[in-house]
Amino acid sequence: MMTPRLRLQPEALGVGMTSQRVRDRLIERLREGGIRDERVLNAIRTVPRHLFVDEALATRAYEDTALPIGHGQTISQPWVVARMTETLLEQGMPQKALEIGTGSGYQAAILAALGIEVHTVERIGELLRVARKRFRSLGLNVRSKHDDGRAGWAENGPFDGILVTAAAPALVDALTAQLAVGGVLVAPVGGSGAQTLVRLRRREDGGIERTDLAPVVFVPLLSGVLG
Ligand code: SAH
Repeated sequence: MMTPRLRLQPEALGVGMTSQRVRDRLIERLREGGIRDERVLNAIRTVPRHLFVDEALATRAYEDTALPIGHGQTISQPWVVARMTETLLEQGMPQKALEIGTGSGYQAAILAALGIEVHTVERIGELLRVARKRFRSLGLNVRSKHDDGRAGWAENGPFDGILVTAAAPALVDALTAQLAVGGVLVAPVGGSGAQTLVRLRRREDGGIERTDLAPVVFVPLLSGVLG
């Protein structure tokens, strides 16, 4: 089993509702929910999700639920993080990935813990500043920028994997364009209410294959940046 690349300080170990025993129960739930990739389950077991939410919410960090992170945003539900990550790994471990919507930084941390070179973009400056502190204290090498992620990060592309963690009514062409041959993009598509998790794969001939995976609920992908 690959060891996730993390530096874990004492508060990362957790006690009571953040203890390893409680985290292992979440892993069992994810298994029951159909998550099979042991590399993904191991990363979720190891990355301390309670350090990605407010202290007041830490006791709920290992419930399989989205939680508020301020600014009307949420840290994604663990099952959704697991499903998206598992989908990204299906064609082999991506070397380089792009995430749109850093939020708490949790999804980016899961990817980095798997040894993936992560690039992440967030439009809300205050969320990004807190996420960067978390990456630093966990010793995770994540490249991030404060920008409207709908443009992607072309200078650093193409990417073997792209995860969009906010929902748009339709797939964003600029992001699909930054997908490497053989690469996989996973994104929620749809308006408020009913969204579908969609997987795109760029074939050797450059064509794109689309598969609809599961119904999901995400916050919206918005335009512009906030301080
Ligand atoms: N991946 C995050 C989920 C955060 S919720 C986590 O693991 O915590 C979605 C995030 O997408 C929010 O932080 C929101 O501000 C951000 N977002 C929405 N539209 C965006 C855009 N156009 N560019 C970059 N980030 C965006």
